[in-house]
Amino acid sequence: MAQVLLVEDDPAIRGALIRGLTERGHAVDSAPTAMAGLESAVGRRPDLVVLDLGLPDLDGVTMLRMLRGASRVPVIVATARDDEAEIVSVLDAGADDYLVKPFSAAQLDARIRAVLRRTGDAAPDPTVVVGGLRVDPRGRRASLDGAELELTPREFELLHYLAAREGEVVSKRELLTQVWQQPYGGADKTVDVHLSWLRRKLGETASTARYLHSVRGVGVRISAPETP
Ligand code: CA
Repeated sequence: MAQVLLVEDDPAIRGALIRGLTERGHAVDSAPTAMAGLESAVGRRPDLVVLDLGLPDLDGVTMLRMLRGASRVPVIVATARDDEAEIVSVLDAGADDYLVKPFSAAQLDARIRAVLRRTGDAAPDPTVVVGGLRVDPRGRRASLDGAELELTPREFELLHYLAAREGEVVSKRELLTQVWQQPYGGADKTVDVHLSWLRRKLGETASTARYLHSVRGVGVRISAPETP
């Protein structure tokens, strides 16, 4: 959802946060020092910076002042020092929010989303549009020609996976791996059954397909109906 730059010198914390944020859909770059972080923040223009205050080369407050001289990128400060004076000074130096260590990737993700909403610098709307079909993965809602579709979680994931690959033929094996998380097992029949439910909700059948087109022996493709 966002391009995040993580400036953190502790490899274990850095690794855990990169994994946790990546799992939550962020693209994460990292830097182990303040100077590398500054270079990356200015050069690669992330959507948001997560800045550890205890870095080996520069005091976090100093780094924040230097960064603010060059960029308005939102910054969340991570501090081990549960020290009110320190927190006030980093907020004064231009941090948008802070977290006191230890914190989980889930907490950090929630703060990232809140800061991006507040700063109005949110990542682009991830809604996928195919013809009259709109699939919004953030709100987990889908609609067809303005009418909300009542989908089960699996149907939603299937529709989103296909819609995000408009025009591509996706194999049932790929769907079992990506949507059902069954890389080795699973039957094509499972996919067929869900596709037929999804078709019904889209008001079409395999023989009168408008959006969901089966490609015999290969898989299925989503595409917008030709305008009559
Ligand atoms: Ca540190």
